[in-house]
Amino acid sequence: MKILSTISEVRTYVNPLRADNQRIGFVPTMGALHQGHLSLVASARQSCSVVIVSIFINPLQFNNFSDFTAYPQMIEKDLELLGNASVDAVFFPTADELYPSTPALSFNFGILEHSLEGTFRPGHFNGVGIVVSKLLNIVKPHIAFFGQKDLQQVCVVKALVRDLSFDVSIEVVDTIREQDGLAMSSRNLRLNATERKASLVLFQTLNFCKDELIKGEFWFNIREKAITMIQQEPLARLEYLEFIDSSSLENQECIDSTKHQSVVIACFIGEIRLIDNLVVKV
Ligand code: AMP
Repeated sequence: MKILSTISEVRTYVNPLRADNQRIGFVPTMGALHQGHLSLVASARQSCSVVIVSIFINPLQFNNFSDFTAYPQMIEKDLELLGNASVDAVFFPTADELYPSTPALSFNFGILEHSLEGTFRPGHFNGVGIVVSKLLNIVKPHIAFFGQKDLQQVCVVKALVRDLSFDVSIEVVDTIREQDGLAMSSRNLRLNATERKASLVLFQTLNFCKDELIKGEFWFNIREKAITMIQQEPLARLEYLEFIDSSSLENQECIDSTKHQSVVIACFIGEIRLIDNLVVKV
């Protein structure tokens, strides 16, 4: 497995592969890898002849400095996992390599960023837009793989690719969960044992909402009950709980089999902010 740390090393590696008609799959990550990331890698491995993973904790997408500095880092273990997953190359740049100066450009994704994550993390999707644009321009993959767990990020990346005509397909991979249902996340490493138990409230709430919606209940009734459930967990502090159209992110009133709809949640457990979502289908 090649370890590439500069933009020019990546270009030197990728250009002959593209000339040779190799199909390049790309998985951008912030490291502290888990089975969720590895399932993106496995999807890439299935449909591409070359798989490239990036590991970069993007300072621009953190609106909270302590969340950035506390973000878990374990590069040795990450490289071992990626080697075992038959990844061909890892792009592991420094912040100075990607951002020799603060980007002058900024993105506004309109409606997509004025709700949910956008409301609670101002500037987050600008940071995502910039780093994803740079990585796509550097790696030049045929397919880039993103997790459904970050549903709004998927919408923003698809808008970016469509609006700027990036020559890449975006493939979305299902959320991988722990046995008890907690969505895998690098941030889970920061939960202590009590918080880890409390974190189950996210998946339980999503399932409660999904079951009630499938029974035909209206969202405004369900939401009230679900919020009461969350309030019973002393370590939980809810930021949002919404029932949305998975593409437009518009609020939904009840289940509609003609649409792709999801329940989405963001909730602090102690100091750790977790997000999750569940597709609702009849
Ligand atoms: P991150 O390192 O958190 O930026 O995540 C890198 C990619 O992995 C993103 O596309 C995430 O949506 C995806 N991802 C994170 N957690 C999971 C999970 N539990 N299941 C599937 N994909 C995930």
